[in-house]
This record gives sequence, structure tokens and C-alpha cells, in this order.
Amino acid sequence: MSEAPPPLVDRLGLQGFAIEMTRRFRAALADEPPAGRVRALTHLANAAFRENLDRAPRPQPVACAKGCAWCCATRVAATPPEVLSLARHLRERVDPAPRAALAARVVEAGAGLAGLDDAARAASRRFCALLGVDSACSVYAARPLACRGVMAFDASACKANHEGSLPEVTYYGAPLQIRMAIQLPLMAALRRGSLAWRLADLPVALAVALARDDAEAAWLAGEDVFAAAALPDTRFDPRQLDSVDALVDRA
Ligand code: SF4
Ligand code: SF4
Repeated sequence: MSEAPPPLVDRLGLQGFAIEMTRRFRAALADEPPAGRVRALTHLANAAFRENLDRAPRPQPVACAKGCAWCCATRVAATPPEVLSLARHLRERVDPAPRAALAARVVEAGAGLAGLDDAARAASRRFCALLGVDSACSVYAARPLACRGVMAFDASACKANHEGSLPEVTYYGAPLQIRMAIQLPLMAALRRGSLAWRLADLPVALAVALARDDAEAAWLAGEDVFAAAALPDTRFDPRQLDSVDALVDRA
């Protein structure tokens, strides 16, 4: 796995960053042995997120803290390697008994949330199955980019949004932008590598990944293992992936 420092938006600009991230994701798919590919992709994505967020301007302190979890009742859209990495984390880092209980909660949540549109998902006010009893994320180190990308300056706004009295929260923009600046190159590289790349609803997809020991191998072999969890492409314009490919091919 390459340990080169991740690309930085403030040095390369957004286009240069997209080109370099896409090249690195393509290289991870081409150069890593199959068993290391998911880990290499998510390691690069998370390192790039962390490094770039550390350098982003922060106009005021964020309100996010352990135990604050109103945002954990919103939909989490994750790429296949993020889901597979999380499933691997649960298999490798969580003892069998708690893992079985957690898997049961994920499966139950996945069944309850499958097929809901965004409005119905929000109206369910259902918290993520991975949220611990202490209202802290039980998989914090392995949480997807979508979770890393949500930060706010006012927790009371997040609470009001959860309770339905505030239609929208103004989130801190930098992490949202960094998240998309990483996910688009990742999805473009997956698509170029003939792998399933669409965003999936986390609990629905994670239930599949936990139920199938061969999920990672099947995805690497080209199977769209999370087809039943796929979200409509309303979070971004899929033509953006064409633009990313064109940027890289021209550079
Ligand atoms: S985004 Fe809002 S709900 Fe989530 S941790 Fe930050 S302040 Fe709390
Ligand atoms: S994975 Fe963790 S951070 Fe993300 S929604 Fe679930 S509990 Fe919250």
C-alpha cells in the first residue's frame, strides 16, 4: 500500500486534486493484490479526507462532539468499498457476541429502511444501527465519508432538524466539499475498473455485506453485490464521473 502523503486541494486546486486522487485510486486497483484493494482504497480516501479537512479554513468552532448524534438519523450514502471496509472492520475488530447483536440490528434497520425515499427516510427519524448506547458511533474509525463530511456549528439546529421544526441545517461546507471531491474520483476509478460504483444506503448494503462472507470477493469479481441498496443518482450528476475521467485522460 502506498504511504505517500495524500494529495492536497490547497496545493493542487480542485481539478488537480481530482486528477491525482483518481490516479491513486486507479493505481490501488491495479497494483494491490485483491485482498488489499478495499483496504487501500478506503485508507487513501480517509487519509485524504483527514489531511484536507485539517487544512481547511474553519470560520468558527464546530459543535460536533462525542455523544451528539442528531445527524446519525439521516441517510448515509456510501460507496461499495466503504461498506465492505466497514463489514471487514466489524469482522476483525468486534468480538463475535456483540458483532452478532450489532449485525441483527443492522439487518433489522436495513429491512425497515430499504426502498424509502429521502423524505420518508428523514421522517422515520430512525437512528443508525451502529450508534452505541452512549450515543457515540461504535465504528468511528471506520465510518464512511458521508459521516465524516457532516459537521455543523450549531447542534441545536441539528436537533431541530431531526425533530422536524427546522427544514434544513446549514452544515460546515468544507467537509461536505472534501467528501464529494474524494468520492467522485473514487467512483470514477471504480467505474473505469468495471466494478460496481453506485452509492448505496448504508444499513441496507451493510446487511448484505455481513450476510455474505464472499461479498468482498464477489464485488472485486465485478458483481453488483449492493444492487438492492443502490440509491438514485440524485446526490450528484453521473456526468461528473465522465468529467473526472476526461480530466485524467487529458492530463
Ligand atoms: S453535525 Fe450536528 S448532530 Fe452531528 S455531531 Fe455535529 S453538531 Fe452534532
Ligand atoms: S456510521 Fe457512525 S457516524 Fe455514521 S451514522 Fe452510523 S453511528 Fe453515525
